[in-house]
Amino acid sequence: WTSETIAVVTGANRGIGFEIVHQLALHGLTVILTSRETAVGEEAAKVLQEGGLDVVFHQLDIVDPPSIESCVDWIKETYGGIDILVNNAGVNFSTGSENSVESADKVIGTNYFGTKNMIKAMIPLMRPSEAGARIVNVSSRLGRLNGRKNRIENLDLRKKLDDEETLTEELIDETVNTFLEQVKDGTWIEGGWPQTFTDYSLSKLAVNAYTRVMARIFAERPEGEKIYINCYCPGWVKTAMTGWAGHVSIEEGADTAVWLSLLPDQFVSGKFFSERREIHF
Ligand code: NDP
Repeated sequence: WTSETIAVVTGANRGIGFEIVHQLALHGLTVILTSRETAVGEEAAKVLQEGGLDVVFHQLDIVDPPSIESCVDWIKETYGGIDILVNNAGVNFSTGSENSVESADKVIGTNYFGTKNMIKAMIPLMRPSEAGARIVNVSSRLGRLNGRKNRIENLDLRKKLDDEETLTEELIDETVNTFLEQVKDGTWIEGGWPQTFTDYSLSKLAVNAYTRVMARIFAERPEGEKIYINCYCPGWVKTAMTGWAGHVSIEEGADTAVWLSLLPDQFVSGKFFSERREIHF
């Protein structure tokens, strides 16, 4: 990896995203640190630049199409394309004791639809290479499809979301949209959705499922133009999102994202990881 290798990280002004930028830059890459707030993003990039790292800031709000478009245009003009995209930006408003779905639109809108916006916008920028371009989605075990706890109760839906034949982008959209409609009409409790961190868990389940859909589509690309896409759970990490209550350090939380971004000659795609090991969806 050289400074010619370009990586983009979303939601990187703080937390796990900031540390992913840091670690990728330590490997010698040029890393585009993006943040929806310009002032805090520039400040974060400055800290790493002062450490001698090749980090460049650009504004990017993953739910704001004009912001995405202007970031894409800027990347095209400045670098021509990218090699690695890490979709880290995310929000959560539930706590362990309170399961809030008041902000469900925002949570699903950012974590799932925002991540999807980014993947669709960045595909045309992903440069052909022998090692393949890489996409890493920061997800969560809370979004497990087949976990013993906190899963979707409808077995038929679970099976469809788990089956190559029936898993499509449309099915994922339909699933999250059904949930959002039920939140609006007050029937979501009976909907059989994950019981805790409901909107957040479903948003990450959708990210995981979308990772599998895209891996299947990317597999059709010719040799030399491959894109490998995977997702991972960073564990319960000490960041603002957990009120700094997690038991995993930010450095460890970022590690698997960096490992997946840089995996040499090992073309895994459409898989779910934690601590550098594959886990079940
Ligand atoms: P933080 O809250 O510290 O960081 C979240 C980042 O996402 C912030 O930089 C935030 O920006 C940014 N963000 C939110 N919405 C947008 C948007 N629309 N456009 C661009 N950026 C946005 O939390 P973490 O570092 O813990 O979370 C990083 C990722 O890790 C998330 O996807 C989270 O779901 C995931 N994760 C975290 C776990 C944990 O234990 N911490 C466990 C499992 C997964 P701003 O500062 O402007 O709000």
